[in-house]
Amino acid sequence: MANPDAISLTRDLVRFDTVNPPGRERDCARMAGALLEEWGFRTEYHEYADSRTSVVARLGGADKKAPLCLTGHLDVVPLGSRKWSRDPFAGEADGDKLYGRGVSDMKAGVAAILLAARSFSSKLAGTPGIVIVLTAGEEGGCVGSAQLAKTQLLGKAGAMVVGEPTSNYPLVGHKGSLKFHARFKGVSAHGSMPELGVNAIYKAAKAIGKLEGFDFAVKPHAVMGKPTLNVGIMEGGNTVNAVPDAASFGVDIRTVPGMDHEAVLSKLRSLLGEAELEVFSNLKPVWTAPDEEWIQRVFEICKPYVGEAPTARTAPYMTDAANLLKVYAGAPTVVLGPGEAAMAHQTDEYASMERIRQSVAIYEALIRDWTARSSG
Ligand SMILES: [Zn+2]
Repeated sequence: MANPDAISLTRDLVRFDTVNPPGRERDCARMAGALLEEWGFRTEYHEYADSRTSVVARLGGADKKAPLCLTGHLDVVPLGSRKWSRDPFAGEADGDKLYGRGVSDMKAGVAAILLAARSFSSKLAGTPGIVIVLTAGEEGGCVGSAQLAKTQLLGKAGAMVVGEPTSNYPLVGHKGSLKFHARFKGVSAHGSMPELGVNAIYKAAKAIGKLEGFDFAVKPHAVMGKPTLNVGIMEGGNTVNAVPDAASFGVDIRTVPGMDHEAVLSKLRSLLGEAELEVFSNLKPVWTAPDEEWIQRVFEICKPYVGEAPTARTAPYMTDAANLLKVYAGAPTVVLGPGEAAMAHQTDEYASMERIRQSVAIYEALIRDWTARSSG
């Protein structure tokens, strides 16, 4: 295991069942951390709950410039209800395809980050260095990165690479997320005498009607387009023959750069009247202007691999970057990894082995570029 190649290391990571829920990233995190220690990294672990382990490892470091952060998550989504034709935890190969749950999203990305780090194990002393952040609990809420952002472990970073699946195309950000439950109270009464009660479901339904045509009154973002709003769940009542005294619904808003989440919430509060809003996710959009100097160099490095000069595009999904940027404030950020975005969360998920190998070379080039420059 001392000198794994990109494919065998991806396979080793896939063999850990880190399906979230429940997650159980600890063994996978310890394996990745042990490799990093073997390669000379200072490695620390953080558990936000039992066996929900994240890893922060660093090498090198200089006063005048912060390190480059490479980050990925260790958990994977459940297998889903459809039957797999491959063993989801074996890393079976077929032609160029490597199969398994989380191969694309995003154990191939983690493997490539680790191997690029290994290539520099003896070369980072006296340079800005790198910091590797491998998180638990990304799927379904970015919990691990949210907890890490509250610790001192992250230190500093001057730029960030998020190894989520992009087929090695560099993406300059993604929308933000604002999620909440709106809760309504009523007064229960027998279903035969509704005039004696106050129906919470009616209140919730009226509120949902107002949300369907909600206008954010913001200009569409040049790359990300418009913000969106979706009511994804509603609950209320206990039985058909009673007036419900409680009802609630859940709202998922995706925001674009320039929007003020607090202003959106206060507009919604006044629209929804007496509803009690319980916000459970509040993450800003991630966006770096494509003409930013480092982004331009990332584009240049990726160009031969994507066959054209990359243009400004963004990811459809959320990433840990939204939390990590609370600490690495202002760091230019790209989402860039070997997995196939279309394969994320799919039955018979696979990744291209060629792209996995290429991403090691891309990450190495990014580390070389960041650590060789004396200023910036
Ligand atoms: Zn992911």
